[in-house]
Amino acid sequence: MSGRTREELARWARDLEGKHPAEILAEVTAAFPRGRVGFATGFGPEGCVLIDVAARAGLPIDVFTLDTGALFPETYALWNRLEARYGIAIRRVASAAADELVPDGAPPPWEADPDRCCELRKVLPLRAELARFDAWVTAIRRDQTADRATAAILEWDEKFGLVKVNPLAAWSSADVWRHVRAHEVPTSPLHDQGYASIGCAPCTTPVGAGEDPRAGRWRGRSKKECGLHARPAARTTATPTPAPTATSTLPLAPERRGFILWLTGLSGAGKSTLSRALRGSLASERPVEILDGDEVRAYLSAGLGFTKEDRDTNVRRIGFVARLLARNGTAAVTAAISPYAATRDEVRSLAERDGVPFVEVFVSAPVAALAARDVKGLYRKALAGELARFTGVSDPYEAPERPDVVVRTDVESIEESAGRILEHLRARGLVRAAAPPAAAERAS
Ligand code: SF4
Repeated sequence: MSGRTREELARWARDLEGKHPAEILAEVTAAFPRGRVGFATGFGPEGCVLIDVAARAGLPIDVFTLDTGALFPETYALWNRLEARYGIAIRRVASAAADELVPDGAPPPWEADPDRCCELRKVLPLRAELARFDAWVTAIRRDQTADRATAAILEWDEKFGLVKVNPLAAWSSADVWRHVRAHEVPTSPLHDQGYASIGCAPCTTPVGAGEDPRAGRWRGRSKKECGLHARPAARTTATPTPAPTATSTLPLAPERRGFILWLTGLSGAGKSTLSRALRGSLASERPVEILDGDEVRAYLSAGLGFTKEDRDTNVRRIGFVARLLARNGTAAVTAAISPYAATRDEVRSLAERDGVPFVEVFVSAPVAALAARDVKGLYRKALAGELARFTGVSDPYEAPERPDVVVRTDVESIEESAGRILEHLRARGLVRAAAPPAAAERAS
């Protein structure tokens, strides 16, 4: 057992609990001879995160992928992007079966016998490949499936006869996406089209809001694993973790999935004007609702003041309604100052937990420019110390550190800003071919 007893592995696994994946991988690569630690990636967000972590730390991990011959074109493109971004080579491991001929009229192998197809295209090539290694890094998380809920950080893999390392076992999906955003890790554009877990193209479909992320794999069949991570019934080294609970019971057809377009910025920066300018383009493809900060305060949040607690409550309410709308196919555009970064992040996490794409737009303009065009004179009063709790002057505004889009309404027209937001939505597959927005007035 790679020189360690089962008990020693269990103790090591317990010691690794709570450590960052970078620390786990550093310990593992230091413990095994160079070239004896491998990582098979399928290019999911978890795999991309591990590639990012390992590459940035320069860890000696042999990264390879099983090319079944049936991957999405987007997966092959992502493979190239990751190699270019990190300056690494991701080895192609193919099975002879990938090129097998199917007799005329016969169903393709993934329809005729998907278990056999996975065995030939994935399990057998992986088994041959893993014979080169002492330790196998995987990207599995405990909350992905009930079968994975008992995964230890590190364990003996009976099936393949080596140490299996699961650095992300304790991470949630939100943790993974937080890392992706923080480090701008390349991921598949298919995630923005509703594909949560991506495998071979013939066996992968998008999932609706509230569905298990792996519900799109082998849809309509009882099969949920390809056999790479099948676990023995009895285990001794792991701490059981509860299986995830569903957050929604209303599956949504993927083509009807909406999204949240969250506009944040100071008062008068142009959020409301931008939201109206965008409505026309977005409405040609799906219902659009605008949750404007002033209107929400008049109805949904009537009675709330401007303390931090009240502002956070207001933002959470807007986020809740936006999520409901988006889960039911609407483009929910919010135009509210939403001054605190942690609360915006909380709203984003809840949306992504529900499978709702969240696009944060920082509507940026300096206070001096806003004061110059402020017909009500509020900025002047706040700057003179006559107005308490005025965001950006006498109350905090935490600008987004990594927004999806930044628009500068002090130097660009509303049409230009709206065009750049639409460009981003197009790139993420959230809109198809939106026309330029109708002319709109500049932010006042
Ligand atoms: S996921 Fe589908 S196509 Fe890919 S190996 Fe398995 S059955 Fe075959």
